[in-house]
Amino acid sequence: MVTNTGSATGEDGRPAVATLDDLLTTGVAGRRVLVRADLNVPLDGTPTPDLPGGRITDDGRVRASLPTIRALAEAGARVVVAAHLGRPKGTPEDRFSLAPVASRLGELLGAPVALADDVTGPSARETVAGLADGQVALLQNVRFDSRETSKDEAERGALAEELAELVGEDGAFVSDGFGVVHRKQASVYDVARLLPHYAGGLVLSELSVLRRLTTDTARPYVVVLGGAKVSDKLGVIANLLTRVDRLLIGGGMAYTFLKAKGYEVGQSLLQEDQLDRVRGFLAEAEERGVELVLPVDVLAAKEFGADAEYQVVDADAIPADRQGLDIGPRTRELFAAKLADAATVFWNGPTGVFEFEAFSGGTRAVAEALVGSSAFTVVGGGDSAAAVRALGLPEDGFSHISTGGGASLEFLEGKAIPGVEVLED
Ligand code: ADP
Ligand code: MG
Repeated sequence: MVTNTGSATGEDGRPAVATLDDLLTTGVAGRRVLVRADLNVPLDGTPTPDLPGGRITDDGRVRASLPTIRALAEAGARVVVAAHLGRPKGTPEDRFSLAPVASRLGELLGAPVALADDVTGPSARETVAGLADGQVALLQNVRFDSRETSKDEAERGALAEELAELVGEDGAFVSDGFGVVHRKQASVYDVARLLPHYAGGLVLSELSVLRRLTTDTARPYVVVLGGAKVSDKLGVIANLLTRVDRLLIGGGMAYTFLKAKGYEVGQSLLQEDQLDRVRGFLAEAEERGVELVLPVDVLAAKEFGADAEYQVVDADAIPADRQGLDIGPRTRELFAAKLADAATVFWNGPTGVFEFEAFSGGTRAVAEALVGSSAFTVVGGGDSAAAVRALGLPEDGFSHISTGGGASLEFLEGKAIPGVEVLED
């Protein structure tokens, strides 16, 4: 992951944000710096006495957070990292402990990372007080405190105050958790209002990539969308239809499109309640001259499972008792051909149930087409990024793999991003 050290003054006229480099220039030696990172990694869920939530299955987000943390530590800062893991309900739960993350971060940094037992309590204060220059500590899962995600501004503000107090008078805040910048949460948004604030390298590089997908985008601009539900991606589809040259649809959401075209989809994932919206998309694509490419064949399985028996069928001939779990071989070729002349590609969402080997071929074909392409290629979405790694594709075969699924989609939807806006003043 490259650190974009450039100024964040948008070509689009956005106000500048102060950057990590600005902070480093100001000098951080001996100062405490709070870093909001996104360390929300997947765990395998198999508990051991040491790791109640199991082992980390994909450490991509830990690695992506490393450059900013390391730069601060090397400059002599006392680095206090705040992060969340999973979806605890505002109270401590062992299986969501950041313990596996603290040890992985320590391994990658080559220096131990002390983990506090609480977020802003006695353990956090003691851990932070014990930091020497250049050392790194991690607070326990911020979502163990219900105020983190509270809708009540005063509640969030109280937690933010406590976080700010941890770094004290000459402390600073670096926002580097790109995966959470779209959240108005205490450790993302409210705390930035209390401390001198800076955008970290990861947030800057993510934003500069996304701006290339919305401003002066090199054409042809081709987007591949997949994943489970079309309802998760309505906003982004609506926005993309005004920008892209071609939109390729795979994954579970393709079946609602196929049904909208009048085909039967058997037992495939179908969102009946979205059919009208999807018909609207089909009409709009036609009106705007956007080429909307749907699967022409699918792997139709007897049931949802890794070993399910399946056959290749045309997209307009899915048997009533079967469900489509991946795009078929002709569609893989079609998608590759539609990607061949692209100058810009954004890909979000696996084209099939890639977690099952038998149904990972379509996702692999799309990923390979991107790796082989000379276009500016961006992968967004947690599962898509995980698929790239799980299928053993080279991460450096893509121009950028985003760490923030929701954040990148909201940016592309044109929504305001609170955790970025708060850095702008
Ligand atoms: P991302 O996190 O990249 O945005 P999503 O969360 O939208 O992607 O979707 C990922 C999930 O979609 C994967 O777990 C995958 O198994 C599922 N999926 C893809 N194709 C299908 C399909 N045909 N039927 C059911 N689930 C699917
Ligand atoms: Mg996902």
